[in-house]
Amino acid sequence: MEEAPCILCRKPGSPWFEKADKFPPHERFRVVRCPECGLGWVTPRPTPGEIGRYYPATYSGTAGAERSGAEGGRALLHRAERWYRFHLLRFETRQLLRRTDLAPGDAVLDVGCAGGERMLVMQQAGLAPAGVDIAAAADLARRRTGLDVRRGTLAEARFESGRFRAATLYNVLEHVHDPRGLLEELRRILAPRGWLAVQSPNAASLQARLFGRRWAALDAPRDLYYYTWRHLVRLLEGEGFGVTGVARRTSFLHPPTAAVSLAPALDPQRFWMAEAGGGTAGGLARRVGWAAVTAAVMPAVWLESALGACAIPTVFARMR
Ligand SMILES: [Zn+2]
Repeated sequence: MEEAPCILCRKPGSPWFEKADKFPPHERFRVVRCPECGLGWVTPRPTPGEIGRYYPATYSGTAGAERSGAEGGRALLHRAERWYRFHLLRFETRQLLRRTDLAPGDAVLDVGCAGGERMLVMQQAGLAPAGVDIAAAADLARRRTGLDVRRGTLAEARFESGRFRAATLYNVLEHVHDPRGLLEELRRILAPRGWLAVQSPNAASLQARLFGRRWAALDAPRDLYYYTWRHLVRLLEGEGFGVTGVARRTSFLHPPTAAVSLAPALDPQRFWMAEAGGGTAGGLARRVGWAAVTAAVMPAVWLESALGACAIPTVFARMR
């Protein structure tokens, strides 16, 4: 375990709340808040060497990519889950193309690429993606896509200087111990005027205010930092990136954080873990329940987006 200060102000934090890990053995973690800028973070926290054991193998849901033996209702639900995921990825990829000047054939690095679904969608859109992920899912992504996917931290991956026209970090920056170090390495591997797309849960969203510490996106100790989009802007600007825009409507297709906050027992990450362990009890009922809760929260999620306080904003920035 290690103590951490505010990455923006270098100040020690003031107590905010405590939260138990949602996965066994439900260890408790302390979350503090910067008295100056309001950023939240976990401290003390597992070191980079220790954090791996807090991620179940099924964390990113990619185990499902290789599941094919399911039958009947379950197969249908797997298909529905896959459709939903690809629909969301296509929406985000179109948004990336609209908000940047990326052109067909441009090299894009997906940081935290998990099982490679986003890279497949980027490829369909004409881009030339590569990926990196610290998890074993990187090996699966390499086999599935045949692309240059490296397993490890971004620093360990040692990509060539100036190789990429853009890098995408969808729900990555909140998991990283040293976000400034990561951005510095991105500056090295991006081409001049290279683009960044950074998506992270918004600690100032309506959901965050409504659910408080029960908000699912406060997932200690895996989520180490709790940013608002203003914190992300400040972090990027401080590391030599000029912010070109903030997409604050993405959550229309992103109801899961609200659904999980409302019904933690239906959290897909919990049943992925149960399935991987061979347990299937209640699997179908839980999936149907999950789909129902997700559909029920859609209007609230849409409203929150319309008010500009969405749960999952995306910040677009360009290297100066
Ligand atoms: Zn601060």
